[in-house]
Amino acid sequence: MRSREREVIGRADRRRPAGVGSGADALLIAALALFNESNDLDAALSKTLTMLTAALDGRIGEIWLRGGDARDVELRYSSSDGAPDVVAFEAEGKALGLGAGPALVSRVVKTGRGSAAASVGGEGMGDRTSVAAAADIHSALTFPIRGKCSLVGVLAFFRESTVRPHSEALASMPGICHHLGRFIERMRAENAIHEAAMELAALASTDALTGLKNRREFDRALRTIPRLPFAVLSLDVDGLKNINDSEGHAAGDMLLRVVGHTLGLLVRGWDVMARVGGDEFAALLPEVGVFGAQLVAERMRVAMHSLALSIGSVRITVGWSAAPAGADPLSVWQRADESLYQAKRAGGDRIAGASYERGEAADIAERSYSDVVARILEGGSLSTMYQPIVSLENGAVLGYEALARPEGFAAMDSVEPVFEAARTGGQIRDLDWVCRRQAVDDARRLPDGSALFLNISAAALLDPVHGVDQLLLLLSSADRSPETVVLEITEHERIRDYEVLARVLAAYRAEGIRFALDDVGEGHSTLELLAASSSEFLKLGRSLTMTSTRVGSRAAMDATLAFARVSGAAVIAEGVENEFVADLMKAGGVRLGQGFGLGKPTMADDVEDVATALSERAALSALRPRSAEAGSLT
Ligand code: C2E
Ligand code: MG
Ligand code: MG
Repeated sequence: MRSREREVIGRADRRRPAGVGSGADALLIAALALFNESNDLDAALSKTLTMLTAALDGRIGEIWLRGGDARDVELRYSSSDGAPDVVAFEAEGKALGLGAGPALVSRVVKTGRGSAAASVGGEGMGDRTSVAAAADIHSALTFPIRGKCSLVGVLAFFRESTVRPHSEALASMPGICHHLGRFIERMRAENAIHEAAMELAALASTDALTGLKNRREFDRALRTIPRLPFAVLSLDVDGLKNINDSEGHAAGDMLLRVVGHTLGLLVRGWDVMARVGGDEFAALLPEVGVFGAQLVAERMRVAMHSLALSIGSVRITVGWSAAPAGADPLSVWQRADESLYQAKRAGGDRIAGASYERGEAADIAERSYSDVVARILEGGSLSTMYQPIVSLENGAVLGYEALARPEGFAAMDSVEPVFEAARTGGQIRDLDWVCRRQAVDDARRLPDGSALFLNISAAALLDPVHGVDQLLLLLSSADRSPETVVLEITEHERIRDYEVLARVLAAYRAEGIRFALDDVGEGHSTLELLAASSSEFLKLGRSLTMTSTRVGSRAAMDATLAFARVSGAAVIAEGVENEFVADLMKAGGVRLGQGFGLGKPTMADDVEDVATALSERAALSALRPRSAEAGSLT
């Protein structure tokens, strides 16, 4: 395709008559270059329009494109200089929708001929006559845009002057319109082929009964060796054969559909959930460790218990295996399968599994959350992951939140139950301290000057023993200045004495340490605490962010934003899992975000990779970082 277009440019050059480099040729060549180099119809047409409007001395240019019906056109592109009268003129044209269009455009559609000096008075402009006068528009130029066989649309330019524009520009218009028509047809055909190919690919990779991925797609997913820890689940519907025998295959199919649908709802967008055989399902879960795999497996098993079907109850058995980065996914799946069959033999409706690399001592999978706490406090393995807090406007990373990851927990496994177990066991202060020490220490490997957001439990915050001095000592041993530290206050319900709180916060603030109120809008967060803490940052809780289209959440979000405006706090939306949520937050007036869609929790050594990934991810173009403004927290 491209070479053909280049050939066209070549011919245009050769055809050039007297006066090489004349204005007419320059315009044609500029337009051809645009068509030749563009893969984006919208961008190319907008640029072309701007260029031609200027060349023809127009106030505004428009491209009307044909819809389905031969006589219908629609205003699709306009070059507006943003002046209010021009915008009003443009809006009036857009408001016409798909139809005959204004008379001077529909005339071109009917006759196939344009006009170099159409008057804009009277019926030619229809309802736009008065707005045209307000915008100082007195004449119009129209050109047909022809495709290979039929008219594609109409180019219209509206001008202040009634004198014909520069003749060179006019002379090049037939050529430009010819190529423009071909370009639009080519791009439309390419887009249609692309869409058809996408649909075919989706069909080829989808299980028709459940809408999940099929076996082929699952096999394909397993061919890539993951660079991060991952888990595989192997699932089986209990007693499907009996249902098929007693109730018929239609009932069996219905059951599989319901099971598939339920499983599909329990995985994240980037997980691969597939139906891999008659009654067998499998899932590949990136960045999930032993504890996450167990959690998901159990959630899936339990979800079946709440399904009400006419044929009776549904039960599944789940085998899981969690593996480190670099393990062969196929062998990990086999290991999950072995666990599945063990669990089946034990009677079904249960989960079983193991870490792929069974430890020398007991398998970590057998550890309870309180065992995990005990191990950490005994000096067992603990790492910290850092999740970026990102500007939703330009993608710049403003700082990182430290998140504890004990052995067996991958980036996206929740450590919430570990902290809960420590609370119940009265070990929260100790656990909190060990995690913070590790977080500050590992943060040395973050990019220079990065701000560090540290979670702090209420017990530790209000405890005079683990006070300011101890934190300062810790920071100085890691060469970190207190001005780069933000403490995140969670467990709002545990903070009752606001006088003590005020004293403690003042002592930290005197050293330059700032505060964030974590998970605002979740659990028992109170307005009192909002006011009493005067936090520099307010973090909108994930459940609020994720439901921000609901009226209640919206109201809570607006109240928080209003409070932030008055108090001067910066608002950070948590749980930004995708671009859609990012856009919603931005539209709602939130400038900062954190979430898997903006950057997953990562080891300190890898955080720069996150910033690069962000800059390269086209899907998040609106969030692309312009520069690594790490640490600038303004
Ligand atoms: P948090 O401070 O609100 O941390 C955010 C949690 O949300 C993290 O879970 C993070 O992995 C998760 N998250 C981030 N983005 C997304 C997203 O887009 N979608 C979803 N679904 N989740 C997202 P994590 O690491 O499991 O931490 C849970 C809680 O445990 C934290 O909530 C914090 O209260 C506490 N915690 C974690 N590490 C520490 C620590 O070192 N010290 C203390 N005191 N508490 C910690
Ligand atoms: Mg937090
Ligand atoms: Mg939070």
